[in-house]
Amino acid sequence: MERTLSIIKPDGVSHGLIGEVIRRFEKSNIKIVGMKLLKMTKTEAEGFYMVHKERPFFDSLTDFMSSGPVVVMVLEGEYVIDKNRRLMGATNPEEADEGTIRKDFATEIEKNVVHGSDSPETASVEIAYFFNRFEIVG
Ligand code: GDP
Repeated sequence: MERTLSIIKPDGVSHGLIGEVIRRFEKSNIKIVGMKLLKMTKTEAEGFYMVHKERPFFDSLTDFMSSGPVVVMVLEGEYVIDKNRRLMGATNPEEADEGTIRKDFATEIEKNVVHGSDSPETASVEIAYFFNRFEIVG
């Protein structure tokens, strides 16, 4: 059994995609064990994406991620890290498979609707960034 962090990014929330993304998780038998709506400050977004701090898009990405509300969720299930990454599709929507969230809804490589942890190690760090143990209902 694994857990992963999912974020519906500001573009997903502003385009009215909260329900659609959650519907796809539920249809895939992915269990939501934590969920909240919040707006990150620029500093909080920088902390979350610290691994990308040397990348040329870091400033733009953290501006975007702190530009409006996001929905953060803890997902639980067997192989849920990979399962969520497959539902999301490739980072660049032009390269994403048909039927994935990013192919269907992303407008560009940065505004790509969803985030999902990419390994068990990053999942546990990312979950702890937003949730304490009382906010996860297993
Ligand atoms: P992910 O794991 O698929 O989200 O991709 P990464 O960890 O590589 O990148 C994190 C986030 O940075 C992506 O989801 C995009 O929002 C953004 N990003 C990645 N590559 C680029 C890029 O080349 N340009 C811009 N502007 N944003 C990018």
